[in-house]
Amino acid sequence: MTILATDRPKFAKLGVADLLGLALYAPYRYDDLCLRSELTTDKPMLLDATIDAIDLSPKRLMVRIYAHNIARTVDVLYFSPKGYLKEQFLVGARRYFFGRLSLQAGRLQLSHPTLPRQIGAIIPRYKSLLAERSLRLLIERYLTLAELEKTGLPPAIANALYAIHFPLDAQPDELTPAQIEVLKYTEIFRHLKVLHAKKRHFPAIPLATNDYLSSWIATLPFKLTADQLRVIGEIKADLQRPVATRRLIVGDVGCGKTMVMLAAAQMALPHRSLLMAPTSVLADQLYREACRFLPDLPVALVTGKKYLSNYQGSLDEAKLIIGTHALLHRELPPVALLMIDEQHRFGTKQRHQLIFTADKENRTHTLQFSATPIPRTQAMIASALVDLSTIRQLPFAKKITTRIISRPDFPALLAHIDTQIKADRQVAIIYPLVDESEHHHYQSLTEGAPYWQQRYEGVFVVHGRQKEKDEILQQFAQEGKILLATTVIEVGISLPRLSTIVIVGAERLGLATLHQLRGRVSRNGLDGYCFLYTHNPNNERLASFAATTDGFAIAELDLKLRHSGDLVGGHEQSGREYRWFDPTADEAILARAMSDLKLKMD
Ligand code: ADP
Ligand code: MG
Repeated sequence: MTILATDRPKFAKLGVADLLGLALYAPYRYDDLCLRSELTTDKPMLLDATIDAIDLSPKRLMVRIYAHNIARTVDVLYFSPKGYLKEQFLVGARRYFFGRLSLQAGRLQLSHPTLPRQIGAIIPRYKSLLAERSLRLLIERYLTLAELEKTGLPPAIANALYAIHFPLDAQPDELTPAQIEVLKYTEIFRHLKVLHAKKRHFPAIPLATNDYLSSWIATLPFKLTADQLRVIGEIKADLQRPVATRRLIVGDVGCGKTMVMLAAAQMALPHRSLLMAPTSVLADQLYREACRFLPDLPVALVTGKKYLSNYQGSLDEAKLIIGTHALLHRELPPVALLMIDEQHRFGTKQRHQLIFTADKENRTHTLQFSATPIPRTQAMIASALVDLSTIRQLPFAKKITTRIISRPDFPALLAHIDTQIKADRQVAIIYPLVDESEHHHYQSLTEGAPYWQQRYEGVFVVHGRQKEKDEILQQFAQEGKILLATTVIEVGISLPRLSTIVIVGAERLGLATLHQLRGRVSRNGLDGYCFLYTHNPNNERLASFAATTDGFAIAELDLKLRHSGDLVGGHEQSGREYRWFDPTADEAILARAMSDLKLKMD
């Protein structure tokens, strides 16, 4: 579709630049301007009438007409009539009236009808930021069946979509469920097509040609889960292609993504891999695990403050370089595989910096890892742009008891904390804010801290504003008993002895954040406890959160809660990503669009 230069500002105002975007501005109503002989009062109808009498008072203009098509007399009423109106009517003249008839004490009435000049059609009515006339003009100019078919829409959908804008025959006042489904399909079809068009294919060095993998897996002290093995297989197939891999691996905290990374680093041999983590604590942890599970591999750690390696020699000799974004500011030897842990922690700007070239001709293969489970429909949609793997299985079933508690439960909570500390377990207490706030109904970290510090030993305080928070966390991991923190603890640091997390003012946090926080405990199959401290213990959202520990189920729940706002007849609601498509309800439509576009999820 070629847009005329003069129409571009109009498209810009609508916020679309393509045919399907325009087509998604569907009518909110239809005016039936065909002459019909059956009388209806439940929607507006067209009357072909002769004017019999006119009665004007200052407050009211009454025109008595005889409507030929329904063979009835009708009183047409205009209240507070504007001056020009009465000149519209002459006794004995014949003209068209369009409006909704009502029956008042046996007489037919019609208030404030419009006076159409053109008849014989069903007129779609539009609402948008453009004047209705302008939008209609665009639709008449650009929306043709041939153009719709060129977009690749299945012919049946293209036809139905065309008929929404150019109805041929009597049509209910409003869009039918079948028509709304066509719009949903069109919207998601268009979205998938746009994403898929962005999917790039760059040449890359084929990897995974060695066969270290199976013998390495055999040396591990545990069996990899079926999900870990499946994802390793998916990565292997990717790496063997001469096309740069771009895969996102999503799996809940504790599902064992590190082993997948180490497997990938092995497959890349003899080429070098780079693994980047958002914090130095995480980088340290990954480094230790790499040294432990890949003792023969030269591994180096590069953070802002540290350079370590498990071999004698320079960075150039490393086969796996692990580090923080400090890596971005260093001269690095070429890498064939780039891995990013906790990818959502990196800003977009940083992520742009992360495009590495392996050599002049080749891009690096890229694997990104995320511990934020996403709802199924979102995963399906994302798979149009990147290859997506999900890990649902956890190596250890999490044994976490979640309880909603409030002030009267505080003594019981203290007793629980005492037992945990006696058993050499650790406790984290998460406060909503660092400093006190007048608007807040809960204690802040600073206000709460003295209480714990006076009562217990080994109390550590950490919050997002501290520079040295990584060091504090590391020290706590070794010798602490109680950690007082804000949500910074969300970062995927492993605290194997942490058994209990108390979240103060839990109802103020989103389900995804609550889930990340709760994921800190019971990392190794230990009995875990999560206490949601709130002044509103009858909170339904918290209750449903307490009922499951499956991150993917929680992501679905979160999406449903955020989407419970109703769609108002074709109007864009703020905060909604789609106008018609509902990611909580339209998975089947999405699946159809994906299969029509020949996209498939792994
Ligand atoms: P995450 O996906 O959150 O990064 P990790 O990779 O840190 O998870 O794994 C969590 C813990 O589970 C680690 O201690 C790791 O060594 C262990 N682990 C990973 N895979 C398995 C497995 N298949 N069986 C037993 N333990 C495993
Ligand atoms: Mg991890």
